Amino acid sequence: MSNTHISKSIYQLDITPPQFLGSLDQNIQCDIGIIGGGLTGISTALCLVEKGYQVSLFEAGNIGDGGSGRNGGQICQGWSTSFNKLCKYIDPDCQQDMWQAGIEGPSLIKDRIDKYKIECDAHWGYVHTAIHKGHMRELDEYQQEFESHGYDLLTSLADKSSLFNYICSDAYIGGLYDAGSGHLHPLKYLIGLATAASKLGAHIYTNSPITEINVANNNNKLISDNGHTISAERLIICGNAYLGAVAPRNLRSRIAPVTSSVMATDPLSDTEIAQTIPSNAAIADGNTALNYFRIDSQKRLIFGGRASYLNTDPLNVETDLRKRMKAVFPDLMHKKIQQAWSGRIGITANRLPDFGRVSDTAIYVQGYSGHGVAFSGVAGSILGDAIIDKQDRFNQLIKISHIPFPGGPFRVPILAIGMGWYKMKDYLQI
Ligand SMILES: Cc1cc2nc3c(=O)[nH]c(=O)nc-3n(C[C@H](O)[C@H](O)[C@H](O)COP(=O)(O)OP(=O)(O)OC[C@H]3O[C@@H](n4cnc5c(N)ncnc54)[C@H](O)[C@@H]3O)c2cc1C
Repeated sequence: MSNTHISKSIYQLDITPPQFLGSLDQNIQCDIGIIGGGLTGISTALCLVEKGYQVSLFEAGNIGDGGSGRNGGQICQGWSTSFNKLCKYIDPDCQQDMWQAGIEGPSLIKDRIDKYKIECDAHWGYVHTAIHKGHMRELDEYQQEFESHGYDLLTSLADKSSLFNYICSDAYIGGLYDAGSGHLHPLKYLIGLATAASKLGAHIYTNSPITEINVANNNNKLISDNGHTISAERLIICGNAYLGAVAPRNLRSRIAPVTSSVMATDPLSDTEIAQTIPSNAAIADGNTALNYFRIDSQKRLIFGGRASYLNTDPLNVETDLRKRMKAVFPDLMHKKIQQAWSGRIGITANRLPDFGRVSDTAIYVQGYSGHGVAFSGVAGSILGDAIIDKQDRFNQLIKISHIPFPGGPFRVPILAIGMGWYKMKDYLQI
């Protein structure tokens, strides 16, 4: 039986994890405490130390052990669902700024790569592919929406011959090319950010799981697994879908942890690359349980897909992903798989991120719904600003209402049934 949920990602095999300060070994007091060493926690820490604040961050394992070191590496701008959905909640005079927040992610990544000289194999270019006419209609609407806001980096690939300049697969009827999105090695990028934050004075503790969060009376007290106490004047919770039972109750019910899986093939030959993704763009299709893939700097096909609401280690990940890959690139069926792994994504019912307060001095974000590589940087800046009293964006985003997922013994079956419906929609092409 495979145990891909805890298997290392190919990215974790590519690097030696830095320890930073290692495990917390004493009681401490800090100005700002952050839980979670993923893209959100580290981006928040970086934003704060850049402004001269004192920050201590606690990560249960190594930096990037959560979704941030396990994802498909796809940088995609925009919100994780239609911008119109977000507009229902925010003040009309803030809509333009919120649009801007949605598309800032890729440029923030570019700026940080340049500023901190992060070598993370970033490449720009992204194709949203259409499996059927319904997807093509959605892509036309997406293009119109983005162009109405002045975004001019999209090119419609309305037929197969234009699509084949970017991706050669008979699985698709067309697509939409976005020159402003792309892909990178997510763990190299994250470690680059963490190194920059550490050099600027962030105290980063790894292998330091927080087992208790107490925010009563604005007196933030955390307990680590080895019994040490952390008193934090202000607290930012960035544990996302990995926070589990330690999460304050209202956070837990607002996201469903969904398991997605990825595999990396042996390197492709130059001929194979020319016959699959000659553009080197990142690719994602329009299904709810979508396939997402790209060729990395080592010429491996990084192919992701699947979504499971069952809270167990997914079985047959490699077999299932191979089947999905075959449907897109039948000629790659013989390729050896170097590694297959899974990770947890936090999904909200409306697919919009969940920003909120736990108390006057403790805030959080979670639930990017599979869209966090780019947006987590923006979210980190929003949280960092909010904790030091610049709350314009945060105050808009906490207005989004999030329906709690059902709890108790019915949680897993109901979530699985919900996902089954979306898979059926994909299958019926509606
Ligand atoms: C398989 C997979 C593929 C994906 N592909 C893409 C993609 O291609 N593009 C994209 O945009 N998004 C993708 N995503 C989503 C993206 O990875 C996430 O949105 C993003 O990484 C979330 O970052 P985060 O820092 O908020 O959470 P995480 O990266 O999950 O980090 C949370 C961290 O908090 C730590 N933590 C939790 N509880 C505690 C505790 N009690 N004490 C201390 N530490 C704690 C965890 O160990 C973890 O390191 C994918 C996700 C997965 C799992």
